[in-house]
Amino acid sequence: MNIHEYQAKELLRAYDVPVPEGKVADTVEGAVAAAKELPGPVWVVKAQIHAGGRGKGGGVKVCRDAQEVKTAAEAILGMQLVTRQTGPAGQKVKKIRVEQGTDIERELYLAVVLDRGAERLTVVASPDGGVDIEDVAEKYPERIFIRRLDGSHHIWPFQARQLLFGCGLQQRQIGRGAALIANLVRLCVEKDATQVEINPLVVDRQGTILALDAKMNFDESALNRHPDIAALDDPDERDPLERMAAEIGLNYVRLGGYVGTMVNGAGLAMATMDAIKQAGAEPANFLDAGGGANVEMIRKGFELMLSDPGVRGILINIFGGIVRCDMVAEGVIQAAKSLGLKLPLVIRMEGTNAEAARKLLDASGLNLFGASSMAEAARRIAELTKEARQ
Ligand code: GDP
Ligand code: MG
Repeated sequence: MNIHEYQAKELLRAYDVPVPEGKVADTVEGAVAAAKELPGPVWVVKAQIHAGGRGKGGGVKVCRDAQEVKTAAEAILGMQLVTRQTGPAGQKVKKIRVEQGTDIERELYLAVVLDRGAERLTVVASPDGGVDIEDVAEKYPERIFIRRLDGSHHIWPFQARQLLFGCGLQQRQIGRGAALIANLVRLCVEKDATQVEINPLVVDRQGTILALDAKMNFDESALNRHPDIAALDDPDERDPLERMAAEIGLNYVRLGGYVGTMVNGAGLAMATMDAIKQAGAEPANFLDAGGGANVEMIRKGFELMLSDPGVRGILINIFGGIVRCDMVAEGVIQAAKSLGLKLPLVIRMEGTNAEAARKLLDASGLNLFGASSMAEAARRIAELTKEARQ
């Protein structure tokens, strides 16, 4: 689960990480009033959306007086902000943070992330923070410093010093920098964060180190331990289809391809996506209908899958154990009929009541293709959707 910058900065403050003073607003008047209460002479108006890259997309504006704050708030509030992380449709800005401006001397990059491959918390730092960090990582990987923590999830002082010297901090700043890194690590561990990214971490003209931006992600499976974090959720920021799925109790993840999939069981769903890829096609989504799905859920899951405009064909792969194939067939038939399905549909069903399901599907008059194995089903749908391939 991601949270907004203004929420992340509250957390940073609670962990003794210095941040500029700021306030959140959802109206232009609120933004102007907030600026009046904050020390000047410069203020920054920042769009609050979960995606990064706001600066380059026009979502961060430096203002020199109340009139400029007003103009910036008018421009940003309600805008459809497009950044390299939002996709072409962008994300609607509903809140802004008004912040005391910082006189920036240097912009660094600092993040604590859970490296799942290494099974370790990892601290990443670079002297070249700011809006072009992705390019730095690509062109000058030697400018990115990485230190993995050991199993105690504790950063050794020498590791912090190596990172900070790598960032070119001066000797007198190292102590405060090391404390800041240790605090970020502690936040990660105590709150079950999987990512705390500060970009930029700045040194201002007085030599103070400040977190100017903050992106945080938390382990959703651990949210039951952290009601304070769970309360920061903003459903407006989630993919609308994923949100709809969560409301019906289905596990849906949009993947960007063109073969819609509905499968029962997460393991089988993963295997199905592998099979689709192996057949040369691209899955549009992960959809685990689960063991407890009923006709209504199948029907809604089907509608959900079809509301992704990228879908060019559908593969349904059911291994009936607890879930009955005839029940799934019933849901599919209802959905396909009510939605007037025109897309190619491949169905593979085995297990409990598979025979009854086949009879229902045969009698339904729907134009569909039965497959007797997962590999065959994947080949079939890849063939039927090959025009979608680039
Ligand atoms: P992001 O683009 O979504 O990562 O948003 P950031 O919060 O990182 O802001 C983008 C950039 O705006 C930063 O890298 C800074 O260069 C600039 N910026 C943000 N706050 C200030 C500020 O207080 N003063 C100045 N001069 N620049 C700022
Ligand atoms: Mg940033």
